[in-house]
Amino acid sequence: MENTKMIKPVYLRNRDIQTDKSNPISDYILACAVGTVVSDIKCIQRDRDLWRIYVESRESCNLLISEGFELQNKTVAVFDNNPFSAGTEKPSEDVVRITVRGIPLSVDDTCIKNMLEKLGAILTSDIKYEKIRNPNTFKMTEILNGNRFVYMKPMEQGKFLPKSSECAGLKCSIFHKGQPTTKRSILCTNCWGDDHLRFNCEYETCCKVCKNPGHSPGDKACSKYDPSPKDIIAFSGKDDVMSNFYPCDIKIFGISHASAEHAFQYSKAMRSGDLIRASSVRNAATALEAKRIGAQVTVPDHWIQQREDIMRKVLEAKFDQVIEFRDKISATGSSTLLVEAAFDDYWGSGLDKKGTMYTGMKAWPGKNTMGQILTDIGRSRRPNAPQRKQSDENHPSYYICLNEIVFSLYTYIFIFSIICISNILKMSNIHYIFFFLFYCYYYKYLNVSSCEMI
Ligand SMILES: [Zn+2]
Ligand SMILES: [Zn+2]
Repeated sequence: MENTKMIKPVYLRNRDIQTDKSNPISDYILACAVGTVVSDIKCIQRDRDLWRIYVESRESCNLLISEGFELQNKTVAVFDNNPFSAGTEKPSEDVVRITVRGIPLSVDDTCIKNMLEKLGAILTSDIKYEKIRNPNTFKMTEILNGNRFVYMKPMEQGKFLPKSSECAGLKCSIFHKGQPTTKRSILCTNCWGDDHLRFNCEYETCCKVCKNPGHSPGDKACSKYDPSPKDIIAFSGKDDVMSNFYPCDIKIFGISHASAEHAFQYSKAMRSGDLIRASSVRNAATALEAKRIGAQVTVPDHWIQQREDIMRKVLEAKFDQVIEFRDKISATGSSTLLVEAAFDDYWGSGLDKKGTMYTGMKAWPGKNTMGQILTDIGRSRRPNAPQRKQSDENHPSYYICLNEIVFSLYTYIFIFSIICISNILKMSNIHYIFFFLFYCYYYKYLNVSSCEMI
């Protein structure tokens, strides 16, 4: 070990890290943050606006200078000289931290390094492994969380690494500061303006449908008010069997779930490679909790294309396995539209029950994807629906009986024709065999056609 006295400290300006004055950065917080990069901190000392960080080895000192450390989600760069001394104006070279997620531990670091360099990153450190942090004590454990990170030089203005790539034939996610964030539409749920959020809204509460103040959707005052009762069934909430929040046992893809919402959110987490959240969803006490956990999953692009199909599979499983659900859907009329009266603009109508019932369907802010799927399932699986094959399965005796009649009829016609033809042509045995084989083939064709006609 080197003599501590020989190692110069690295420096920080308090003004660079102290962004929120009401919440001062303590030496302990700083120690924890620096401790994620180096493990041999000797001393952290504050002197007015200057922090001195002493480490025990030259290697750690260099590591801090070249890579900085993360504090409150920002990369902090340290000075290798006292920034208040003459001649030092800039911190050590700025670095950007890259986090790579979704790659098994068995994949070699070189693979990741090559992938990032191919994508244009100039790396300034080796690949490192993130560790699980105790959320209460903020201390790092010795257990890895599977993520790897590395530092790179800041990229040119306007350039950034893609958010996903492939390494050793596996898809992985890449994150760093400066990547464009997925644009979440900003929408105020008070006035429905799209340039601020509810908590800093300065306007009157407006109707979500017509955007005018003084009434709610479904009120007579709304310009989109529709007094005529529509042929719809609006459902919402965990007490309604139509809702995904309704507690019921559903088995899908070989796994049992406590509700359709559990099943859907579990599939979402699994397909996004988030096994920890998938397991939390399975153990969630309520559907609402499952939804909340699912909302934290970072979904890949392909999930957006898959989600409707998965929802359909979940709901079909529910239809097959939950009798009260099947009964309720089967009892709806063929022209009835099912609607999820929820504020979700993709799955639901975007309105509450009253708003949904008394607002013209075309003015609903939501797409009602969930209700549409249920309506489709109801129409195609209702007992009197025109599903021929299914009715065959449901009435095998009827099917066999009718088939036998068809078979007998065709056989009589066939034998009669053969006798007539053989009398005219004086046929040999081989011709009879040939005719019989032809008949078998022909009957099979007839059989299929008649089956479809039932
Ligand atoms: Zn607003
Ligand atoms: Zn209105």
